[in-house]
Amino acid sequence: MALLRPRAIAVATGVPVLFAVLATGLAIAPAQPRASADEVTAAVAAPVVPIAPFAVTMADPRALHRAIPVVHRVRTHDPVAFITIDDGVHKDPAALAYVRRLRLPVTAFLSAWTIKDRAGYFTALTTWGSVQNHSATHASFADRKTDLAYEICYSQRALSRDFGTTPWMLRPPYGEGIHRFGTVMNAERCDIDQIVLWDATVHDGRVQFANGRLRPGSILLLHFTPDLARDLRAAVRAVRAAGLTPASLAEYLHAPSSAT
Ligand SMILES: [Zn+2]
Repeated sequence: MALLRPRAIAVATGVPVLFAVLATGLAIAPAQPRASADEVTAAVAAPVVPIAPFAVTMADPRALHRAIPVVHRVRTHDPVAFITIDDGVHKDPAALAYVRRLRLPVTAFLSAWTIKDRAGYFTALTTWGSVQNHSATHASFADRKTDLAYEICYSQRALSRDFGTTPWMLRPPYGEGIHRFGTVMNAERCDIDQIVLWDATVHDGRVQFANGRLRPGSILLLHFTPDLARDLRAAVRAVRAAGLTPASLAEYLHAPSSAT
């Protein structure tokens, strides 16, 4: 009988997420409102969890939950990179115009509380990409007081209602709390297939890399700031300078090449 069927993990760092689920916490940098060098460092350092022996038993109810892959960079040999934009407080019209002009595939990780009546902006912005889940209130998932069921499952319902499709990627705010049992359990319960982080950030027109440079499959993190158009131009420049092309994250995370 297959008691445990850990899914293939499309994670650049090779983290055994099944066992990472059992980790009780992470050393986490203080919450920051925007991408920063610390955020890049945290994204890379966070999932270093030792490989445990296969000793989980059926007596442990946590073992019944499947692993949720954590992705920092998509495993692909295609010359592509992925532009993702977080939060949703500001809706920069110039950014939308730029996305439309380039027909740019972007993934919007939205916090449900920030959308309100402006869903149309994000619908247009993600014409060639997709809308995904970035919590309800932007509370840190590492905070024991955070209601993870609300943050993950309420936002799934709200985003589904606003955009007509249910998100299946989750990016916890600040990249924190990804291995908490409550995160994984609620993500599984509410139709999340992938936890998606990043390996590069773009802020104030500057690109910072977690691993020195962009590589095929790199995921760039931007934010919905008043300067989003400038950051998008910087991201596209960096992607092209690396010999890559922006591509749709949703298409690649569903591609067989990612399931290795
Ligand atoms: Zn955020």
